[in-house]
Amino acid sequence: MHDLIIIGGGPAGLTAALYAGRSRMDTLLIEKMSLGGRILMSEMIENYPGFPGGILTSELISRMEKQVRELGVKIESEEVLELDCAKKTVKTSNGLSESRAIIIASGSRARKLNVPGEEKYTGRGVSYCATCDAPFYKEKKVVIVGGGNAVAEEAVYLSRFASSVNIVHRRQDLRASMILQEKMQQDKKINFILSSVITEIKGSQKVEAVRIKDLLSGKESDFNCDGVFIYIGYEPETVFLKGKVQMDESGFIICDEIMATSAEGIFACGDCRKKSLYQVINACGDGAVAADSAYKYIAAKG
Ligand code: NAP
Repeated sequence: MHDLIIIGGGPAGLTAALYAGRSRMDTLLIEKMSLGGRILMSEMIENYPGFPGGILTSELISRMEKQVRELGVKIESEEVLELDCAKKTVKTSNGLSESRAIIIASGSRARKLNVPGEEKYTGRGVSYCATCDAPFYKEKKVVIVGGGNAVAEEAVYLSRFASSVNIVHRRQDLRASMILQEKMQQDKKINFILSSVITEIKGSQKVEAVRIKDLLSGKESDFNCDGVFIYIGYEPETVFLKGKVQMDESGFIICDEIMATSAEGIFACGDCRKKSLYQVINACGDGAVAADSAYKYIAAKG
């Protein structure tokens, strides 16, 4: 029996573990992939306070991990299959663990474009991670889809490798922050194909072109390219919680200001919960609040 189980080892889960460890709670953190989660898909973090010029994401995560391990938090690499909110048990591929409170920090996964060819060419030209795959596109022509901060950051990163980076966005305006838009405008290798959507990804053994529809004229044409990077937002990793805690229509967990979910003793933090801003800084803030709330919940139970 642990005091606390934390599901997910991204910035939110790791910060929750840090605060739990410092409160001397017996804490188990379960992560199915690598510690760090989705943020590892970005090479650098430029807006985390205290690091002028940015910090490598891998460096920030390994510092967080070290801090947590020094406090004696147990970290297991397993996939959570089922959760019993009333009994506070977590079933994983390795068995059943029990605790007095649970924090969900399961994060989110890349949203799919859902066009013909996307699935077929995933890993053969279609990618959701420029940091992982950009070196394969040295002097090649790539397309990147979306208009948010992720596209802006990854387009600049890809332009270090590719011969041209072509952003396809469904509207005329991007929603990326102005500082990132300025960086893109200054980059001669980055081009914009606006008010347009991709209707198909084409190829033979690997990606060779995308079919693009101009939403203003309605015309469709093929655009030759070697790679397609998709950055159109994220979906919460909350399928294992369906019907157990209150969520919005997209599956983001609804929490109050102390990160409590609708189930007693179950807290949530980071990108899996519904909120207005999805950043490392407030994922960490959420994690601290969730751990504090879990501590107070356990103390009140006696
Ligand atoms: P996002 O901000 O949600 O933007 C998604 C983009 O994809 C939007 O431009 C959206 O278009 C477009 N889109 C959505 N569905 C689409 C579809 N089916 N077909 C074509 N386009 C589609 O997502 P994100 O850029 O991946 O970022 C996710 C979160 O992480 C955000 O909260 C973001 O601020 C944060 N983040 C922050 C940083 C940073 O601060 N440095 C870096 C990376 C990510 P519309 O604009 O028309 O809706």
